[in-house]
Amino acid sequence: MQRRVFLKSTVLAIGSFSVGKVAGQIASSNIHKGTSIVVLNPYKKVAWRTIQQHKAALHLHTLQSDGYHMPEEVILAYRKAGYTVLSITDHDWNEPNRRIVGNWGPLPIEKASPYPKAPKPDNYPANPTWPWTDYGTPAPDDLGMVGIQGSELTYKHHINSYYNNYGIWHGNPGDKIGRQAPYKITDSDGHEISEDDQLAAVKNKGGLAILNHPSISDKHSWWERKPLQWYIERYRNHSPRYLVGIEVTNGSAKYNEALWDQLLTRFMPARPIWGFGNDDMHSMKNIKQTCNVFLLSELTDSSVREAMEAGQFFMYVSTKMVNYMEDPLGLSTFPEIKEINVDEDSGTITIHATGYDQIKWISAPQSLEPVKDYKISESPWPLGQVVHVGKTLDIRSNPKLRNYVRAEIILKEGGHINRILTNPFGIIKNADIPSKDVK
Ligand SMILES: [Zn+2]
Ligand SMILES: [Zn+2]
Repeated sequence: MQRRVFLKSTVLAIGSFSVGKVAGQIASSNIHKGTSIVVLNPYKKVAWRTIQQHKAALHLHTLQSDGYHMPEEVILAYRKAGYTVLSITDHDWNEPNRRIVGNWGPLPIEKASPYPKAPKPDNYPANPTWPWTDYGTPAPDDLGMVGIQGSELTYKHHINSYYNNYGIWHGNPGDKIGRQAPYKITDSDGHEISEDDQLAAVKNKGGLAILNHPSISDKHSWWERKPLQWYIERYRNHSPRYLVGIEVTNGSAKYNEALWDQLLTRFMPARPIWGFGNDDMHSMKNIKQTCNVFLLSELTDSSVREAMEAGQFFMYVSTKMVNYMEDPLGLSTFPEIKEINVDEDSGTITIHATGYDQIKWISAPQSLEPVKDYKISESPWPLGQVVHVGKTLDIRSNPKLRNYVRAEIILKEGGHINRILTNPFGIIKNADIPSKDVK
């Protein structure tokens, strides 16, 4: 469909993230007050007619840290389940074979991974499980997949780190293995290493990062829940060019969605925070069904990275678990998004989808105050408000709409709920629009 390009020069270019420019340019035009416009559309570059949708698992553990399976088993199981993009993200602070008897695990010694073989990689044992071929696994190309170098930075708040080999370890090689948190890692000047230091290291190595599973219980010795302000500071201190998002659907994910809404309310549209759907697989026996679905014109390393940076993907999440060992294809049915059309002329966003029961549009929460104690509550922050139900959202006349909107496409399957979550669209409310473009 031929669409008139509305406010072309003023629409935010993904990657530039400069909203200030928008206001400046419009102010000099012939203006009409009081209209909302979409200034950030993560799916703007998608050619819907020809696009391919690729399932991506971006948070996986193996025997190379504290997972239960060899890398090859994991990769082949996910390939069979239809995944074409994978990142093995073993913990930087774990030596291999944590789950083998003698370390922490129940697995017999015969199951131990012999990898990585000598000579050990740089930065062992904090190195990523990469390249796959060094771990007894076919190359991604040979499997028709894209593999992403990755690791989970595990000192302090967990951070998934991609496209680089940064990692820190808590001990010295040869130390007694299985040392437990809390422990303290310092730099060469004796300063304790912070999350900001680690994010800066990812940036300096040209990588991408996301903040993992905020709502994990505070009861673990290795985990401390953080206040909302802590997340605000990280997203303020670090550019979306490398700190691209937050993990929304990991595990039981008690309040991650609400935290995401709180952050989007504060940062959109100038600083997008993309939502990632990760199962954090350690054992393939009983894991949450959630993944990312990338929209790609071709399956290449660079197109996957660009999609991660631009938010050009959806999250799939089901309440149903999957057992890849016994029922590898027992996967939930999800709706399918065929096209998302942002129509600047009519001021609408329309989602064309099949196989769904309902489409909900969610914008900022009513309150920006915590309602309960984040340390102990599973719902300390109010969720975003549902501002509309239906396939088309009118952004100009919706009174509840604020600085962003995201959609959920919902399908009920028995007693379970399967959802697709879009990334957020950035909105400027009451923008000054050149009058010739307003009907
Ligand atoms: Zn973690
Ligand atoms: Zn993990």
